Amino acid sequence: MVVIGAGPAGCVMSRRLAESGLDVILLEAGSERAPTRAGVLDIGPGSQVITRHRAVLGSATIGRTEVELPRGRTLGGSGAVNGGYCTPARPSDLVEWGPDWPRRYAVGLARAAERLRPRLVPAGPVAARVAEAFPGRVSAIAQARRDGRRVTAFDAWDPAGAGVRVVTGATVRELRWAGGRTSRRCDGVVLDDDEEISARETILCAGSIGTAAVLLNSGIGPDSGHPVGRSTQEHPEVLLDLPPDWARPASDPNTASASHSAAPPLLSHVVRLALPGPTGVVEIEVRPYSVPMHRVIPGLAPQPHRIGVALMNPVGRGEVGRGEVGGGNLRDGGPRVVLADDPRDTAALDRAAGLVADRLGISGGAGGLRPVPVPSTSQHLSGSARIGEVVDDSGRVLGCEGLRVADASVFPALPRCGPYYSVLAVAEDLAARVISGRSW
Ligand SMILES: Cc1cc2nc3c(=O)[nH]c(=O)nc-3n(C[C@H](O)[C@H](O)[C@H](O)COP(=O)(O)OP(=O)(O)OC[C@H]3O[C@@H](n4cnc5c(N)ncnc54)[C@H](O)[C@@H]3O)c2cc1C
Repeated sequence: MVVIGAGPAGCVMSRRLAESGLDVILLEAGSERAPTRAGVLDIGPGSQVITRHRAVLGSATIGRTEVELPRGRTLGGSGAVNGGYCTPARPSDLVEWGPDWPRRYAVGLARAAERLRPRLVPAGPVAARVAEAFPGRVSAIAQARRDGRRVTAFDAWDPAGAGVRVVTGATVRELRWAGGRTSRRCDGVVLDDDEEISARETILCAGSIGTAAVLLNSGIGPDSGHPVGRSTQEHPEVLLDLPPDWARPASDPNTASASHSAAPPLLSHVVRLALPGPTGVVEIEVRPYSVPMHRVIPGLAPQPHRIGVALMNPVGRGEVGRGEVGGGNLRDGGPRVVLADDPRDTAALDRAAGLVADRLGISGGAGGLRPVPVPSTSQHLSGSARIGEVVDDSGRVLGCEGLRVADASVFPALPRCGPYYSVLAVAEDLAARVISGRSW
């Protein structure tokens, strides 16, 4: 068995397959390890553990801007550089997934929780002040950290400890087809240095961008009847500047690298709002980030302290298009990533940002002008190889043999929360299906 990508999904999948007695190789493009200090997001300018993709953000109405989409390229994948907050989907998030999924998800999540064991952390001054402004709407969120260290899926599932052969610095360029592309029988992979590895079954866990890139580069895409990358989902977010001293963090140096102890969790709580909109309820997550981003992202230039307002049920859909596998599109030729650009989402987020600014009393300025929302994104991209369109309910690529997908790409609909915990839960479920469906 070859598993492509040692992100959260790949770590879960490879461990479970090895535990069941299968011979498993886990191929990871990255070769550097990410910092282990809890709270640090190594996605700044000097990071050696990410691939940098670029996408256009915004709409014709508010103006367009370019945004960087960093993706972890290391053992643990994006889970080694992410915010680390772990929120389970609600059953109502899974309605579009099909009737079996609430149960399958719950079982997968229970297995994932046993390994990752995320913890709640106390609210800092910003979260406390935001909570006060929205009584009854606050939820605590758990963090994948222990004793001041980040816990990645690679730590928690420990594939090597279960007998998986883990190979780093191994970028899969394309899938190998027995008898040529039209055979649709995958019998291994080709690395970017032309090395070939044979496999009885290949499981793509290269993330929403990486998995789409490998599929498209291997002839699986719109031309073969697979709408790969055609309907991705993300949670658009805007950032609002907080006035100086609005809620002063307890202590602290100015940069992430200046401290040797754990950085404060960027997010300990969120506020969930359901607002009436012209076409239905607009679901909003207010994110009271505890410190300015440059405090937790090494090398980032100083920035104002901002909080986030994210749209959790957007109607817009984006795209991942063909490009060089393994390359970010800061380099020529990487996969083309387009984020959703629906004016209804932009208008909804704009209205929500205004309401939040007013409620928090951060309208600011002598004339009471609201802070100008800074367009951003949640880094929650999913759905580039969706169940029902590109893969079946067990992650098997439709019309192909020996090929599955088991990462965030398969989500039929993005839950109204961060996807990390859901990726782990779904990978647990799909691993159980590979094992129970084995015919050899
Ligand atoms: C900066 C950031 C912050 C985030 N914060 C949060 C958060 O706080 N909470 C939350 O819920 N979600 C968060 N997310 C999202 C969450 O981390 C992802 O949804 C999750 O990691 C996706 O897991 P995955 O296994 O699908 O892919 P990934 O984590 O992207 O892992 C894919 C792996 O495959 C490897 N790979 C890719 N292509 C190839 C190839 N061709 N050959 C070999 N290997 C390859 C990559 O190097 C990588 O290691 C964040 C994401 C980012 C980027």
